[in-house]
Amino acid sequence: KLELKNLSKSFGNHRVLTDVSIKLEDFDSLVLIGPSGGGKTTLLRLLAGLEKPQGGDVIINNKQIIYDEKYLSQYRKRIGMVYQAYNLFPHLTAVENITLPLIKVHNVKPKIAKEMAFDLLDRFNLGNQGNKKPIALSGGQQQRIAICRAVAIKPEYLLLDEPTSALDPEYTSEVLDLIYELRNEGMQLVLVTHEMGFAKEAADKVMFIEDEGIVQCGSASDVLNNSEDPRVRKFLNKVL
Ligand code: ATP
Repeated sequence: KLELKNLSKSFGNHRVLTDVSIKLEDFDSLVLIGPSGGGKTTLLRLLAGLEKPQGGDVIINNKQIIYDEKYLSQYRKRIGMVYQAYNLFPHLTAVENITLPLIKVHNVKPKIAKEMAFDLLDRFNLGNQGNKKPIALSGGQQQRIAICRAVAIKPEYLLLDEPTSALDPEYTSEVLDLIYELRNEGMQLVLVTHEMGFAKEAADKVMFIEDEGIVQCGSASDVLNNSEDPRVRKFLNKVL
């Protein structure tokens, strides 16, 4: 469940979102689409509590984000975040990348954290890669490990910002397959992507963002197949 109430965000004089309101009752997977610079990443960062709006509220699963540092630092611990470039620590092995936040942020004992990490890697057929450093792994493997790191903490939801756009195309499907699997296991996720085929398959809701706000939000077929909004159609004609 997601509610945005009169949400506004600008950087200096540059308005990115202005007075945005929406209420989504039930969704497991929300996909954000729209032209470059439209504000998708900004909205994702607002959901993550990484940006403070100039006005308005973000309420996720009935909990309102409160903008004081103490609340935010607790809040961010409950959220998984995956970025475009995999952002693994280069000097740590795959397993150490996964165990670090478990040990340092969530006070899990190192031995248990290691077991949890290997369980996750095994589940996604990455068990053999656990002791390798990122440089010895393919882009697709690195991004899958970054996703394992984000879900290892058992986040309330997972936010992914164009997780496949920095990858060589040959690795896109293995990363999307992993995201799809997580979704099917019940992980609630919000994903920014340009992979429209994946959006059609995996999204309960698609939100199109442009011109400082939400142009359309609905089921994947409403937005991606049957939209009558000219901005949505123009965008889809370009990317499909
Ligand atoms: P893309 O698909 O290119 O990633 P986007 O829809 O995710 O685009 P945002 O990254 O949210 O768009 O950016 C929206 C606008 O806000 C852009 O014009 C961007 O330059 C600006 N912007 C984003 N973050 C900052 C910042 N920290 N400081 C100044 N301007 C910013």
